[in-house]
This record gives sequence, C-alpha cells and structure tokens, in this order.
Amino acid sequence: MNEPEQKSLLIEIGKRLWTRGFVAANDGNLSVRINDKEILVTASGLSKGFLTKEMILKVDLDGNPISQNPDYHPSSEVKMHLEIYRHRKDIQAVVHAHPPYATSFAVAGCTPNPCVLPEAVLTLGAVPVAPYGTPSTEKVPQSIRSYIDQTDVILLANHGALTMGEDLLTAYHRMETLEHTAQITFLAMQMGKVHVIPQNEIEKLMEVRKQMKIPGRIIIPQSEPVDMNEAIIDAITKRVVERLKK
Ligand SMILES: [Zn+2]
Repeated sequence: MNEPEQKSLLIEIGKRLWTRGFVAANDGNLSVRINDKEILVTASGLSKGFLTKEMILKVDLDGNPISQNPDYHPSSEVKMHLEIYRHRKDIQAVVHAHPPYATSFAVAGCTPNPCVLPEAVLTLGAVPVAPYGTPSTEKVPQSIRSYIDQTDVILLANHGALTMGEDLLTAYHRMETLEHTAQITFLAMQMGKVHVIPQNEIEKLMEVRKQMKIPGRIIIPQSEPVDMNEAIIDAITKRVVERLKK
C-alpha cells in the first residue's frame, strides 16, 4: 500500500472509530509505519471522524516532523506509538481510542475475561491493564513498556485502550474485538452469571491459533470463573456478619 492509500485508510478507520463511539470529541490517535524510518500519525486536537489528508503528518522514529504543516501538530500521544514501533519490528500500525465498555473495565481497574468467547481467546488473549500515566508525558510510554513484547492489546488504567497490528485494519479489528468482548462480558455480568470456556478448551483454541497461523502476540489466558453476584454477595455477607459480631 502506498502513502496516499495509507492516508485514505487512516481517514476511513478514524471514521469507523468515531461512528462506533470509540472516541468522543478529539480523543484517540492512529498511526502507520510506512517504512523503516517514517510514521504517519494523526494530528492533535481533531475529531477522528472528519480527518483529511492534510491532518495526517509524517514523523521519524524520534517524533521529529518530516512533513511540516503550520496548521497541524502530531498527536500529543505520538510518544506512546513510537515506543511500540521501536520495540516491535513486526508492528506496522497502532490504534488508540476510548471505547466505553473496555475503558470502563480499565476505570474499574480490571480487564474483561477473554475466556468468554473463542474469538477473544484467539485474537486478544489476556489483556493487561497498564498503570495510569499523565497523557502526553513520558509516563504513558513507560507504563506500557513491560507489556509491548508480550501482547498486541493493552488497556490503559483510567484512560482507554491501545491495539497494534501488522497493518492498520488488523490493529483496528483488535480494538473492535476488545470492545465487543467487554460489552458482552458486562451484559452477562448484569445477568448474574458469566460462564467461561474451560481450560482444556482454551488449550485446544491455542492449538487452533497455531494451526491457523494467526499473526501477532497474545498472553495465553487462564480460564477462571467470573461471578460478580457471588463476589458481591460474599462481600455483603462478610460485612453483615462483622456488624452482627459487634
Ligand atoms: Zn487517550
């Protein structure tokens, strides 16, 4: 794919992120590596639903602008993208957004269990939650550093989600799968019971993943029961028993 085609795809994916409500106002940022030294990245302070080619800038691996445009500046989160490109030669695209269900898990300090759906096991694996870091500072690349080598999907505590891939569409699809899994898990939690795929079946899926040669890296998930209601009932019971003892 040549540079103008990459820009067109960035615009298309920005539109999908905004249309699906994965970003609000000017949130989120996207980038693509076009060769060994150059990255295309969205400009800061713009809605991702209405990008034009002028709003996509070119920087080197240190974030220095290659194409100058006085009207626009690279995304303030470009450091987070560059951290990934420097550490993962296999990654050619990065998507950052704030999809509401996945971000809610990150706000609650937990992560959706991928063992609820085969697609999530195959494409996401276990999703780590990186500690909170002030947006636009070095704290954000620092917070993801220890996870980059292990996985293509990271939640950012009290912030949002980060996905990467061997191309832009793959990185975006990982964001869709993450949000879809988070939404389904959340809805099942409201129904009071979340049945998980047992560990022996997870192992079979890992075998399928190998056979299908699914690209990217995942952290192999461990099937553990999720039952919010039981956890809440346990906590309430403990509290009531403690009060009765007084
Ligand atoms: Zn963000």
